[in-house]
Amino acid sequence: MSTMFLRTLREDPADADVDSAKLLQRAGYIRKAAPGIWTWLPLGLSVLNKIEAIIREEINGIGAQEVHFPALLPREPYEATHRWEEYGDNIFRLKDRHQADYLLAPTHEEMFTLLVKDMYSSYKDLPVTLYQIQTKYRDEFRPRAGLIRGREFIMKDAYSFTIDEEGMRKAYHDERGAYERIFQRLDLKYVPVFAMSGPMGGSASEEFLAPMAIGEDTFALAPSGKAWNVEALTTPELPEIDSSNTPAASKRPTPDAKSIENMIARANADNPRADGREWQASDILKNVVITVKHPEDADHDEPWREVIVVGVPGDRTVDMKRLEAQFAPAELEEATEEDLKKHPELVPGYIGPMVLGPQAKAAGVEEPVRYFVDAHVVKGSAWFTGADENEVDYYDLVYGRDFEADGRVEAVEVRHGDMSPDGSGPLSFERGVEIGQVFQLGLKYSNALDLKVLDQNGKTVPVWMGCYGIGVSRVLACIAETHHDDAGLAWPAVIAPAQVHVVATGKDQAAFDAAEKLVDELEERGIEVIYDDRPKVSPGVKFKDAELIGVPLIAVAGRDTVNNGTIEIRNRDGSDKVAVAAADAAATLADRLAALLQR
Ligand code: ATP
Ligand code: MG
Repeated sequence: MSTMFLRTLREDPADADVDSAKLLQRAGYIRKAAPGIWTWLPLGLSVLNKIEAIIREEINGIGAQEVHFPALLPREPYEATHRWEEYGDNIFRLKDRHQADYLLAPTHEEMFTLLVKDMYSSYKDLPVTLYQIQTKYRDEFRPRAGLIRGREFIMKDAYSFTIDEEGMRKAYHDERGAYERIFQRLDLKYVPVFAMSGPMGGSASEEFLAPMAIGEDTFALAPSGKAWNVEALTTPELPEIDSSNTPAASKRPTPDAKSIENMIARANADNPRADGREWQASDILKNVVITVKHPEDADHDEPWREVIVVGVPGDRTVDMKRLEAQFAPAELEEATEEDLKKHPELVPGYIGPMVLGPQAKAAGVEEPVRYFVDAHVVKGSAWFTGADENEVDYYDLVYGRDFEADGRVEAVEVRHGDMSPDGSGPLSFERGVEIGQVFQLGLKYSNALDLKVLDQNGKTVPVWMGCYGIGVSRVLACIAETHHDDAGLAWPAVIAPAQVHVVATGKDQAAFDAAEKLVDELEERGIEVIYDDRPKVSPGVKFKDAELIGVPLIAVAGRDTVNNGTIEIRNRDGSDKVAVAAADAAATLADRLAALLQR
């Protein structure tokens, strides 16, 4: 410690917003260079290298091979996949002295694809998985939480290349297995979260989230332990309701009832329910007008706008992001006045299903506004909804009896308590930080960049790809975030910058001699040590620094060593404090370390 390049800080840096950012700076692991850009100090680099070593071991273990790309790359490959534009302000673009465009890579799909295209040409060359551990650049809108959202950060990115879809699935499976082993070895709690629903099935992409309150991602957790991100949640189909006793639908005047509250108030006053209970928002079928912005297609030379209506229960709000996921690649927005003007059948405040979709078609309208219902609108359910005339509503309009829809969509915000997609029980919501993602890319990049090989029959076919990322520097921060207390960091033994922190205290040279002897014995056993040999630094300061730095085992040589020949040993958290004969200290520490490494 007397020569180590280190200055610990007693105070939290003013702009540090989360514990890991505070402690990693205070304990001398990293220093801020610019917003979202960090300098690694010796302690930080030591932990980082250990995390990388574990990642390398596991990724090499599934047969992937390490390469290393430049971070500074030309525009053209990113142009070919449209990502030069799609990334918007999120990438750092620059020009060389000849005015040619370059970028600092935010991720490397293009380069890996081109490299394989450059070198391989036959099915015999496949499968192959390549990876790198490399610095990435993203001009994040809001760098935050120290290393967790940086603008320069370290990523492990792997890419698999296989002749067919089955090969891609196997590569994906191997990679996610390696992820589980990596996070287990790092003692970092993780939840694999399904990130995509739809035709590709539930596992075309999974995000690995480390659950913690400071996370920016919300995920939904089922009692089965399965988890989904909100966009990927699907509502299980509910059984049809028996509507044989539901009265026939009736149209009744309901004046001044454009809002849900007014509808309820008017209905309770003028049209009380037969069953005696009050009308409530969930009885109302709210019909929301939305504009779908389609890209150009076979029938349209230009992007085009389509007005649709989505029926949702009146006690729920539309979640545009979830809904949009089902209309991709189209984008959604709320219908504008202009859009509405083109559809006089949509009476503001009194929009109902009877002039829409299948109903309109049956009435002879050639291209009616398409009508979708949210997954919570079940067949046989009776609704209080607009009757397409000013100040008139329908009562007891039954879905499946009186009206139909063009489709069932996931349109509303999911709530705590909603049924999970696997039917295992109600969902709860938690927050987490994305530490990794595995993704079945399919043919997207091989088609865009023309990566093709000859198959067994001599036919040219595109290569199936997967991509797999781990945020290495983010993982380090997440471990710090979940392994600390008020006094400082508390690293898992496998990645701590050293395994034992030896402290010599007092003025007596004998204590320093005993400490030095212990350091030698530990190092002989291959154990890494931080030795606090600083003269004239108080024991209090030394203990504080030891706790701040967070090495798992602490050994103290001081007055007791001089008087009784003992060395005090304790765990970083203060537990299991014992005094052992100086001669036994190294063996005791080695045993404890072995136990810690086993956990
Ligand atoms: P996020 O949603 O958190 O922005 P992402 O989905 O854009 O992440 P990917 O493109 O999937 O990120 O990148 C792979 C991994 O790199 C992520 O799982 C994450 O662990 C890490 N990562 C992404 N952005 C950052 C960043 N700004 N700082 C640190 N690590 C990052
Ligand atoms: Mg991601």
